[in-house]
Amino acid sequence: MLDEKNVEALKTKGAEGVLLDFVNLLTNYEEMEEIEKFGNMDGGLYPLPLDQYHGMARIFQQVWKDRSPAQLEALNRQLEMIFERRPELVGTVDPTHERPAIVVDSAHGSIGVTPRTMLDILGVAILTNIKKLAMCEREGCPTPYFIKKHARQRFCSTDCADTVRGRKKKAWQDTHRDELIEKKRRERRVARQRRPQKAKGRPSSARS
Ligand SMILES: [Zn+2]
Repeated sequence: MLDEKNVEALKTKGAEGVLLDFVNLLTNYEEMEEIEKFGNMDGGLYPLPLDQYHGMARIFQQVWKDRSPAQLEALNRQLEMIFERRPELVGTVDPTHERPAIVVDSAHGSIGVTPRTMLDILGVAILTNIKKLAMCEREGCPTPYFIKKHARQRFCSTDCADTVRGRKKKAWQDTHRDELIEKKRRERRVARQRRPQKAKGRPSSARS
């Protein structure tokens, strides 16, 4: 079961995009506004109760920062809870959860997750990207959780990379200011010496 906003968000930014919104937006337990903002952008995380959004985000965020066995184990429990059939919902008005997300297909000899909800989709997205979860190295980055597109990527965006490069360049320039001024002077002097002298006298004209 996906709501309209879920469908639209998946179409425009994909499962990874929604996952990034989730972990980058829900950072402060106190802020109910964060949940509203996420809901307005990407829709609901049915059947997760609103008061559990932050707890879920926290577990995802911790795995992002630290993939120690203990953190991964916590994620395992959380994902199992997401993918299982939720007995408390079966038999109520919740047809979606009458089946578990794990689907066995013996005709094709396969087993896999067939997502029922956006929550299932986020669970699959964090699992399939587990080795690529990374933190942006720019101090004060507003969206520090990102998924690496290549192995050595250190920043969430070219904006962040450019900002840090710009800062480094400026710091380097500040510490080398005197040398730079001297270098500029030297270059100007050389340029002056090389400049061709202006021709004197009348301009040359075609021979008669
Ligand atoms: Zn960044």
